[in-house]
Amino acid sequence: MIQEEFQRPMHILNRLIDQGYEAYFVGGAIRDMLLERTIGDVDIATSAQPEEVMNLFSKTVPVGIEHGTVVVLLQDTPYEVTTFRMDEEYVDYRRPKEVTFIKSLHEDLKRRDFTMNAIAMDREGVLIDPFEGQASIQKRLIQTVGDPSERFHEDALRMLRAVRFHSQLSFQVEADTLLGIKKNAEHLKHVSIERITTEFEKILKGKSCHTALALIIETGLVDYIVNVNNYKDQLMKWEKVDTSLLLTRAELWALFCYFLQVKDCESFLMSWKLPTKVIKQTTLIVDSLVYIQKHGWTKILMYKLGIDLALSTERVKLIVQHQHAQNTLDIFKETYMSLPIFSRTDLQVKGTDIIMWSKQSPGPWVAKTIERIEEAVVNGKIRNDKEQIKEWLNTCNLL
Ligand code: ATP
Ligand code: MG
Repeated sequence: MIQEEFQRPMHILNRLIDQGYEAYFVGGAIRDMLLERTIGDVDIATSAQPEEVMNLFSKTVPVGIEHGTVVVLLQDTPYEVTTFRMDEEYVDYRRPKEVTFIKSLHEDLKRRDFTMNAIAMDREGVLIDPFEGQASIQKRLIQTVGDPSERFHEDALRMLRAVRFHSQLSFQVEADTLLGIKKNAEHLKHVSIERITTEFEKILKGKSCHTALALIIETGLVDYIVNVNNYKDQLMKWEKVDTSLLLTRAELWALFCYFLQVKDCESFLMSWKLPTKVIKQTTLIVDSLVYIQKHGWTKILMYKLGIDLALSTERVKLIVQHQHAQNTLDIFKETYMSLPIFSRTDLQVKGTDIIMWSKQSPGPWVAKTIERIEEAVVNGKIRNDKEQIKEWLNTCNLL
C-alpha cells in the first residue's frame, strides 16, 4: 500500500505513463518515507521532455525549464516534475553549465548527491535503488553516489548538504565521504552565498545542529562560509537547543547571532545576503534580547516592538534558556494584550491637538512630545484620556 502523500501526485505518474513515458517518485520523499519521517515535497522524475510535461497538464509553471524542471499544480499543490538528465561539464565547482536530457532513470539517479537521495519508486510502490540507498539509510550513513572527491568537484555545495542532512537526520557522514569533504572544503568558496545560506538555515534548524556545527569546523568548511571562522570558539560551544519552537527566519538568525555574540549583526547578516526585512527584524530581536537579559521585559519595549517581534524575542529567549513551555508564551501574550495602547494611532491625542494647545508652530518637537505621551500612557503614569494628557503636559511644562 503506497502512502497517502503519494496518492494525489499518482495522477501525474499515471498520466505520464499512459502517454508512453516513464515516471517515478524520487528524492527526499522516498528517503523520508523509508525513515518514517514527515514527507516534504514529493518530486517526480520522468523521461518526458519539459515541453511534453507542460502539454499534458493544465496548470504548469516552468520554474527551472533549462534544468528540466516543470512544476505541475494539482488543486494548487505544486509538484516538481523533472526530466531524466545528466549533468554535464561542471565549471568552477558549481552547478553544471549544461544538462542533457536522457531516457535512463539509472543515469538520472547517478547524478544525485547521496545514495539515500538516489532511490526511485514506481507507481506500484516498487523501489529502484541501484546505489544501495536503502542500505545507507539502514546504517544511517550519508554517502555520495560514486567517488566523493569527483562529486564534490562537480558541485561543492554537496559538502554542505552532507552536513545539512547530518543536522536534520542525525546520520553520520560515511568515512570516505568525510575524507572527501576535508580534501575539497576550499572549493566551497566557488559556491554562491545564496545557495550556502539556504543549506545553512536548514543546518541551524536541524535537531543535530550542535554536532553539525562541530562538523563544519572539523572538515574545514568553516573557512569558506561567510566569516563564521571568526566565531569558531562560540560555534564549538553551541548547545543542544530545541529550535523547533522557532517560527521565522529572523528568529533563527537572531539565535545564531546571539550565540555567536556577533558585534555588528547588520553587516554580518548582510554578508549572508539576507533580505533587508529579515536583517532589520533580526537586529531588533538581538538588541532586545541583550536588553532583557540585563533589565528584563519593560512595557515600553513590548510596545515598541509590537506583538510579532516581541513574541519572536520571547521565543528566542526561551530557547536560549532551555525553557520551551507554550504556556509561558501564552502568559507573555496576555501581558502584551494588557498594554493600554498598541500604537500611536490609539492615542486620544494627535499632533494637531498639541500644536493647537501650545500655540507654537509645528516642528520636530511635536513628535518628541508624542513620544513622551506614549511612554507615560504605556507605563500607566497617565490614562489615555485627552483631558488628562493635556493636564499632564501642562504640569510637565511640555506645552
Ligand atoms: P528536503 O526534504 O529537505 O527538500 P531533498 O532531498 O528533497 O530534501 P532537495 O534540495 O529538495 O533535497 O533536492 C531534491 C533531490 O534532488 C535530492 O534528494 C537529490 O536527489 C537531488 N539533488 C539536490 N541537490 C543536489 C545536488 N547539489 N547535487 C546532486 N543532487 C542533488
Ligand atoms: Mg526536496
